[in-house]
Formats: sequence, structure tokens, C-alpha cells
Amino acid sequence: IFSVSGLTKRFGEGEAEVLVLKGIDLSMAAGEMAALLGPSGSGKSTLLTILGTLMRASGGTHDMLGVDLMQASEGQRTKFRSKHLGFVFQFHHLLPDLSALENVMMPAACAAGRETRAMRERATELLDAVGLADRRDYRPSAMSGGQRQRVAVARALINNPVLVLADEPTGNLDRQSADHVMDLIRSINQTMATSFLISTHDEHIAGQCPRRIELLDGRIVRS
Ligand code: ATP
Ligand code: MG
Repeated sequence: IFSVSGLTKRFGEGEAEVLVLKGIDLSMAAGEMAALLGPSGSGKSTLLTILGTLMRASGGTHDMLGVDLMQASEGQRTKFRSKHLGFVFQFHHLLPDLSALENVMMPAACAAGRETRAMRERATELLDAVGLADRRDYRPSAMSGGQRQRVAVARALINNPVLVLADEPTGNLDRQSADHVMDLIRSINQTMATSFLISTHDEHIAGQCPRRIELLDGRIVRS
């Protein structure tokens, strides 16, 4: 579904310039689920942000679903992102004044500029799939950390993305809630064939992913 080669990212200029990604070659097939491991500062978030079209690479190629994302305009990249990609972050980033259901609908409602009954139905199905049907009207503040993160997973799926990029999705959870979120991701991966790329520091979490990609100092050392 995507392929990058010789991908680089530098920040800063002149004296202050740092090369953070030093030529990444990586591809993923449809339906894959992979862990992205590496020490702090190795470039995991930077890579996920670039793969998610939230930031442009400095060099190399980046193709996804037949689209050359290096050449694409910002407008094309934004459209591409909302159509094909989903995101889960370490902190749930739910909107505090919206219910669980409204949070899940948000990316679809934003893309369309309005809410529809179909969106509401789809969001209800997704909340059901993440085991939170009975929490649909709760606000984030009335849910546990694990429940919030499951709402965030449901939200990532609302536009039926082919790939979900998850940056330490369980980093803020205890072992039991983390396992619950991972079970959920695995079952979505199997039933909906959504691909997942999940960054983590946690070997236990990585062990639950069929594929393992290791980053060290801006380079892939195992894939
Ligand atoms: P962690 O496990 O701690 O989340 P990470 O592997 O996700 O680490 P990144 O956040 O990708 O690492 O950062 C990689 C390197 O890039 C770090 O040295 C960081 O300081 C640098 N970096 C990231 N973003 C910027 C930026 N906007 N400007 C300058 N340097 C940056
Ligand atoms: Mg990071």
C-alpha cells in the first residue's frame, strides 16, 4: 500500500541542521500489522508523521496507492489523508465537550462539512466494535484511559482508512488496558483488513504484531 525509498528528513538549517531520517527504505502490504521499534530519538514519530502526510520528507520517494506523495500538492495530500489514513496517538486527543459518539464521527463530519445519519450509524457500529456501545453518550472525562483510547481507535477508523498510523497508542496505559487496545487493533486488522503501523517502546506490545521494524538513529536496522 505504500513504499518509501531513500527517504530523508532534516530539521533546521546551516550549523543547526540535523539529519533525523537518513535514507529509509520501507514498504507495507495491504492488511499488514507491524510494530515500529527504536530508542527514544531514533525517528519513529518523525517517520509516522511523514507516512501520514502530516509533514513532507526532505528527500527520497514516497508512494501510496499509486499516488506520488512527494509531488502531490498540499491540497491533494490533505484529501488523500482524510480518505485513506487514520491516526492514533499516545494521548487520546478526544475533544472534551463532545460525547464518545460525536468524537468518533468528527473526522467524517469535518471532511463532509456536516453530520449525516450514515455517519452516526457507522460511528455507533464502531463504538460497538470497540466494546463501548454503552458509553456512546459519555464525555471523555467520564471514561477510563483505556476506554478513551478505544474511542480514539474507533475514531481512526471512521473514514475506512487502508492504513492506521499509531504512535505509542498504549504508551499511557497500564498492561491490562494496553492488551485490551492491542486485542482490539488485532481483531480490526483481521476482520476489516486495515493495515496498522504501531510505534512502541514495549517489547510485549511489539510481540503482538506479526511484523517488526526496528529503527536506530534514523536508519532501519531490521524489517
Ligand atoms: P520517542 O521514542 O522519544 O518518541 P522518536 O523515535 O519518536 O522518539 P522523534 O520524535 O522522531 O523520535 O525524533 C527524532 C529526532 O528528531 C530527535 O532527535 C528530535 O530531537 C528530532 N526532531 C524531531 N522533530 C524535530 C523538529 N521539529 N525540529 C528539530 N528536531 C526535531
Ligand atoms: Mg515518538
